[in-house]
Amino acid sequence: MDNYIVSARKYRPTTFHSVVGQKALTTTLKNAIAGNKLAHAYLFSGPRGVGKTTCARIFAKTINCLNPTSGHEACNTCESCVAFNEQRSYNILELDAASNNGVDDIRSLIDQVRIPPQIGRYKVYIIDEVHMLSPSAFNSFLKTLEEPPIHAIFILATTEKHKIIPTILSRCQVYDFSRISIGDIVEHLQHVAQQEGVTTEAEALNIIAQKADGGMRDALSIFDQTVSYTGGKITYQAVIENLNVLDYEYYFKLTDAILTGSVTDSLLILNDILNRGFEGQYIISGIASHFRDLLVCRDAETIQLFPVGATIRERYSETAKRCSLSFLYEAIAIANDCDLNYRISKNKRLMVELMLIRLCQLTEKDATGKGEKKKSLKPIEVQERSSDIRQTAASPGLPPQQAAETPLGNAAENPMSEETPHPELKEPDPPLYPATPSPTGSRSQKKRMGSVSGMGISISSFTANKASEPVPEDPEKEITGSQLFSEEELLAAWNAYAGNLTEEKLLKNTMTLYRPKMISDVVFEVEVNTELNRQYLTDNSLSILSFLREQLSNSEITMMIRIAEGNAIRKALTSREIFDEMTKQNPSLQKLSDEFGLELG
Ligand SMILES: [Zn+2]
Repeated sequence: MDNYIVSARKYRPTTFHSVVGQKALTTTLKNAIAGNKLAHAYLFSGPRGVGKTTCARIFAKTINCLNPTSGHEACNTCESCVAFNEQRSYNILELDAASNNGVDDIRSLIDQVRIPPQIGRYKVYIIDEVHMLSPSAFNSFLKTLEEPPIHAIFILATTEKHKIIPTILSRCQVYDFSRISIGDIVEHLQHVAQQEGVTTEAEALNIIAQKADGGMRDALSIFDQTVSYTGGKITYQAVIENLNVLDYEYYFKLTDAILTGSVTDSLLILNDILNRGFEGQYIISGIASHFRDLLVCRDAETIQLFPVGATIRERYSETAKRCSLSFLYEAIAIANDCDLNYRISKNKRLMVELMLIRLCQLTEKDATGKGEKKKSLKPIEVQERSSDIRQTAASPGLPPQQAAETPLGNAAENPMSEETPHPELKEPDPPLYPATPSPTGSRSQKKRMGSVSGMGISISSFTANKASEPVPEDPEKEITGSQLFSEEELLAAWNAYAGNLTEEKLLKNTMTLYRPKMISDVVFEVEVNTELNRQYLTDNSLSILSFLREQLSNSEITMMIRIAEGNAIRKALTSREIFDEMTKQNPSLQKLSDEFGLELG
């Protein structure tokens, strides 16, 4: 027991090759060594525990190695390497600026800089947490950095690059270390466990990796902790108890309740979770991640974004099959919505409960929405529409029955609906559907959707996907080359279109008020506040898009319209305002409103 070494130290990499999760960076360093292009100062920046100091040490060892390998790694056998590995090399000096940040500390280091190395070619000075140096220490260090002796190399490491003064920054070659991926951490933990004779469950290591948040040192330290806690058997149960993580079992139970639309069950499960001492915010983000995981498990291509053991993956995959894409998109959006509002909410428990209720209602909506024509909408759904993040891909490729999923039928059935004015609105605007339906829009959308879902989570595009799903593809229409354009150019064209509008004041207002934002090379998004704004843009999308496509010489331009989050209240107000304005232009609307007993705002 007396020679127990923590895993982070015991399994500290000794060659560039064995550094986990920083491949691009170590390759660049190796190439610099191979090409003999060494700088006098390097800045290694990045989160804690991702290998900055480790890489600095390997770098120092490698450039001093007397017999480097053909792969430009240290040989680990020559005199210099052995001295490094036994931590008795004089060619490396480390200063932890977090605890030694005074001018005297840096001076004693600088005093040694002039002495050339006895063995090897370089003396390497590693200053950890360099942003912690006092200003006077910084200044006296700067002088050395300006005229370093030929044999001196400085490696400055920091977790807070923005605190490094520009005069230092400009003298350094900067290397940004990234967080290590969950997959890489799990793999390394598996390797360590094997060496240590520890049995593990894949899900358990996955939880440890998640908790470590991209830092290998933290991951290994949690690993050690769990080994001593469990006596060498790292099980999922042991890990979640040790780390106070909510069992995914609860998320599965919640999902089941939500999928059956059972508000009662889901509230009871929530109560159980809260009684176990978990915070609301934690539960919300847990649910969001759970739905996200289900989403990536639906697709063979994205399932790799979910690096867990086969058994649990199977379970996710099985549950995912029971969820429609649109359900998952909306569910994530609702959870995200709740997450954003949670902090400012006074009744936090109610926020979480409300989220569950809304999630349960999604199932109802899903069930009713499957039919060809919806006969009735419950008032609560109307409410929900307004506050969800909703988006529609407005592209001329929309087939009539889809674009027609507007409240025409609903309005008659549902006199309380705020959306009743739509049919009137559409009257003067016949080109709702393309005269010659061009499948180009929907096709390109569909193609893009593949890549969007590949990113795992993209709340904003769900309706686009839903809309494009049933559109039959036209194999003959293939999109050809297109010219790239900037957001400014897009905005200019957008404004030009709005500027040309004389009759359609409401559309003009909408277009002036909301600006398009590029979300990929050819797709732009407009975030609007109300369902009505969305409707204006959708109804006119054919004309808007053909104008933009012509102006910007790009036939693939696609518009996505999204209703901003949390606009339930604002929507009601603006609907009233817009309705008033509409009745001014079209008095028959008022009659319609009176007849159906419309209640706006
Ligand atoms: Zn060597």
